[in-house]
Amino acid sequence: MSNLNCTNSTSLDPMVLAMMNNGSKFMNDEQQQKVDLKNLSPDELLEFLSGMGKERFRCDQLLRWIYKRGVTDLEQMTDLSKVLRAELSEKSIISDWTPEVVETSSDGTRKFLFRLADGSSVETVRIPMENDRSTLCISTQVGCAMQCNFCLTGTFGFKRNLTTAEIVNQVCAVLKEGPINNIVLMGMGEPLHNIDNVVRALKIFYAPTGLDYGTRKVTLSTCGLVPEMAELGKRITVNLAVSLNATTDEVRDLLMPVNKRYPLKELMTACRKYPLASHRRITFEYILIRDLNDSIADAKRIVKLLHGIKAKVNLIPFNEHEGSQYRCPDRDTIEGRLWSTKG
Ligand code: SF4
Repeated sequence: MSNLNCTNSTSLDPMVLAMMNNGSKFMNDEQQQKVDLKNLSPDELLEFLSGMGKERFRCDQLLRWIYKRGVTDLEQMTDLSKVLRAELSEKSIISDWTPEVVETSSDGTRKFLFRLADGSSVETVRIPMENDRSTLCISTQVGCAMQCNFCLTGTFGFKRNLTTAEIVNQVCAVLKEGPINNIVLMGMGEPLHNIDNVVRALKIFYAPTGLDYGTRKVTLSTCGLVPEMAELGKRITVNLAVSLNATTDEVRDLLMPVNKRYPLKELMTACRKYPLASHRRITFEYILIRDLNDSIADAKRIVKLLHGIKAKVNLIPFNEHEGSQYRCPDRDTIEGRLWSTKG
């Protein structure tokens, strides 16, 4: 979900990236292609090393070097034997990203633009929080197929899924400039449209020898792909945010074509069934658009819709951009004159 101003429209010089393998787990020998170790979940890395006849503890050693110490040069991994390093460098690479452009806003928000091996780009946004904390908003696809008509990314169309390494490298690259407290999958793309690579990336985020984030620190935002929401809940624990943006099917159909496939009733049922960790709530993102979804009737309907769901509502004033027919509501609405009702 692109609630945080993702754009892939900048044209910049290419940067050299390590080879990527388009999300497939292992390349076979015949293809003579090397595996990017950042494309492997911890279990898959273990499997990869076992296939080379290596001991289990080698997996934790490698994970620590890559994710805890940020080392991507096998030669620097001094507790691995020379033989192992040589074997690994024959079969694998470890990608490492440097942003092509970094922009800092007056409020301290930093936007990182990364150039990918195929010339596409993705944006990652670091948002400063209270007490020197920060949240990182990462992308999961180049473009997006969901076509929400209030979203700039939606107008670009879908180009491709990001690989696991490309998802994880956004975090690894920004971590080089300081700690990140929370990760939100809310940048370019619909994460559940790339569920395999996203789940693999989450496993790397959570692994104690990986990036070691608690499940409470990571939130995935979806436009409401109902079957994938159920699948996600079965496969892994993650905080869920749902981009709601309307309280009637009529308005949601207009804003978000996904609603024609999975209307509000089905979406709310999926939310009720989503396996939340204890004391957690689903966040409902609601972009306020003037005279479309910002009325008192909307405020009342949202309370009804969310009845029985452990929920919190995040009201986001529409971010006006060129070419969009929509406008931001007036200050009274944004400040809660209409929206003081609690769900
Ligand atoms: S799901 Fe909708 S809001 Fe999110 S990136 Fe795609 S088009 Fe934009």
